[in-house]
Amino acid sequence: MTGLADCNNFFVSCERSVNPSLEGKAVVVLSNNDGCVVARSNESKRMGVKMGQPAFELRDIIARGELIALSGNHLLYRDISLKVHAIFKRFVPSAIDYSVDESFLDVDGIPHGVLPSIGEAIHEACLKEMRIPVTIGFASTKTLAKVATELCKKSGRRVGMLASREEIERAIDPIAISELWGIGRRLAKRLYQNGVYTIGDFYRKDMKWVRQLMGVNGERSWLELHGEPCIELEHVGRRLQDSVSESRTFPEDVDDYDYIRARIVIYASDCARKLRAMGGRCGSVGVFLRTNPFRPGPRLRPEMKVRLDRCISDTPAIVEAAISILDSIFIEGVGFKRAGVWLGDITQDIPEVGSLFDAPDARRESMKRFMKAVDSINGAVSNKKIGLASQIVKGHRGHNDGYSSTFQAPKGEPEN
Ligand SMILES: [Mg+2]
Repeated sequence: MTGLADCNNFFVSCERSVNPSLEGKAVVVLSNNDGCVVARSNESKRMGVKMGQPAFELRDIIARGELIALSGNHLLYRDISLKVHAIFKRFVPSAIDYSVDESFLDVDGIPHGVLPSIGEAIHEACLKEMRIPVTIGFASTKTLAKVATELCKKSGRRVGMLASREEIERAIDPIAISELWGIGRRLAKRLYQNGVYTIGDFYRKDMKWVRQLMGVNGERSWLELHGEPCIELEHVGRRLQDSVSESRTFPEDVDDYDYIRARIVIYASDCARKLRAMGGRCGSVGVFLRTNPFRPGPRLRPEMKVRLDRCISDTPAIVEAAISILDSIFIEGVGFKRAGVWLGDITQDIPEVGSLFDAPDARRESMKRFMKAVDSINGAVSNKKIGLASQIVKGHRGHNDGYSSTFQAPKGEPEN
């Protein structure tokens, strides 16, 4: 058996742990620059607030006092995360920290009958010492432990176990396939197109069919649902946090492609820098554009995410991906008010173990050293000194969205 300990609504719970007056109220935590919702209390979930929802859409209910929106305090979250992970490890022989608020528990060899009381003890300790509610699920594989934990959260239980085949089949039948661990939006869409809507549908498919449609990762998920452990975190890399993002509202509506492209380059560069600072690499890049919601006319919100063939952390590759996405979502003649970039599928940047016969990837190594040099120069000063030439754009010198002063050409000289 394996266990998963997962903090409930983690960022919101952290805020409540230092400010108990938030208890019982509808609370959300917003992303950097207060752009969108990254954590929701149960009360705000019940109000229909969506994960990732832009903050401006919630403006009215915030103004009416029905919803409390907080800016993220990531130093606090990191501090509590370390302490909570340390608590998990007191109760089991070993645990792997999987994300800021989740840990897989190694309970190998511990009699099944004892597991619920271990789960209860972890829950009690986290609540008493850190005031963080935690849900613990046990099952024979990591994927099933994830399912068990989600089921507990939905039914309001603290600890749950998915053990027998009948229990598993009954539990997974109604759950949407998009909620299965490791199934992203794109894979879920492909599965919908093939008539697979729930985890139960997926479970009942033939393994060969799954492999053909989804490759080895799909096969692993399928095997795990059937009780065969085959996902090793050492392989997938530890997920560090869900995403890194940067976005800004422009001072006015902008329909100039060159201007928006330069902004996207800057946001993507900043995301890349943050990603490296946390020791991560990303498997997907997304870009979004928004029109002004307070202007008459249709609201347009083109956005797209692409999954990369390999996980990356270097600025040029991330910027290149972001620009190609921008090119496919940009709409000629439409004035946009806001734009942003996000990086997803983030895992720890572990050194790749190449085949004995592969030549070492010299280009990638030198890029790594180069990015390290750039980060150390930029990191030493608050005003970032080094960026890509594509960040510079002609005109629009007067705009100030927190970035434009950084890479402007010297005044009085031609900008090119
Ligand atoms: Mg959680």
